[in-house]
Amino acid sequence: MTRLTILEYPDPRLRTVAQPVAVVDDALRATIDDLFETMYAAKGIGLAATQANVHRRLMVIDISEEHNQPMVFVNPEVFERECVGVMQEGCLSVPGYYDDVERAQKIRVRALGRDGQPFELEAEGLLAVCIQHEIDHLNGRLFVDYLSELKRTRVRKKLEKERRQNTPHTDADGPHAPPI
Ligand code: ZN
Repeated sequence: MTRLTILEYPDPRLRTVAQPVAVVDDALRATIDDLFETMYAAKGIGLAATQANVHRRLMVIDISEEHNQPMVFVNPEVFERECVGVMQEGCLSVPGYYDDVERAQKIRVRALGRDGQPFELEAEGLLAVCIQHEIDHLNGRLFVDYLSELKRTRVRKKLEKERRQNTPHTDADGPHAPPI
């Protein structure tokens, strides 16, 4: 398994719209393993292929603390949404920044699994938010796009400054969910 580099905002490659996966084969499964390796190493609970500069409709999620509930979504599609609510989000591509985003808190999603077989899933709360956040990545969209332009500019400047000075990203104060 290979640990991949996670693209960070405002890298323009994060704006790429991912292409559908035609076949779930061993090569794709190797990419899936790399995504899990990368996500766990970064202490995230979700990672879309887009974030690792792989522009195919593929994402991995594991919201368990023990890292024992890996979930794979190939060509994911949400087909039911309800119960709109607000939850704080963070993102591995926007390190150290967290903010509230409004999304459906209950969804139904269909996708192909690691074995290439289609499945449907009803998800609520953190998992529902995570799935929608990752699908946004596959569409070239980031959670900061839901914020005001002022906030977005502030985040971009902070990240650019940290990169320029080569300082580690500083986390926002207070408790927050792991980034996705
Ligand atoms: Zn993200």
